[in-house]
Amino acid sequence: MSEANECLFCKIIAGEIPSNTVYEDDSTIAFSDIHPKAKVHVLIVPKKHYANVAELAEQDSHELSHMVGIAKSIADKEFHGAYRLIFNTGEDAGQSVFHVHAHVLTGEVMAE
Ligand code: ADP
Repeated sequence: MSEANECLFCKIIAGEIPSNTVYEDDSTIAFSDIHPKAKVHVLIVPKKHYANVAELAEQDSHELSHMVGIAKSIADKEFHGAYRLIFNTGEDAGQSVFHVHAHVLTGEVMAE
């Protein structure tokens, strides 16, 4: 069975599950988180499946820096370039979808 058959974000990338897509190019997609934790909460996701950010950094550091650039563009548009960028890595750190994704939280002043 391929990853696309098992992985929630692979299904979103394949268009099998709907998402509110805010950005897309050949390698990367960004869509609104279904349970937003800030006024603007976007997930940036490489189309190729990597389990977490450590695996991505090892195998495709160019894609990782591309994702960081997309986060900046979203925050430039939504909130004068201020944002939080979070990669939950490992179940004990709160990762629940094992397809690497960056949480971009922006659009409002964040509590400390
Ligand atoms: P956590 O669930 O603890 O935040 P992750 O860091 O793995 O763990 O994040 C997965 C994120 O995916 C969650 O913020 C969740 O709200 C989001 N999510 C789950 N299903 C969907 C979906 N169908 N569309 C958009 N976001 C989703």
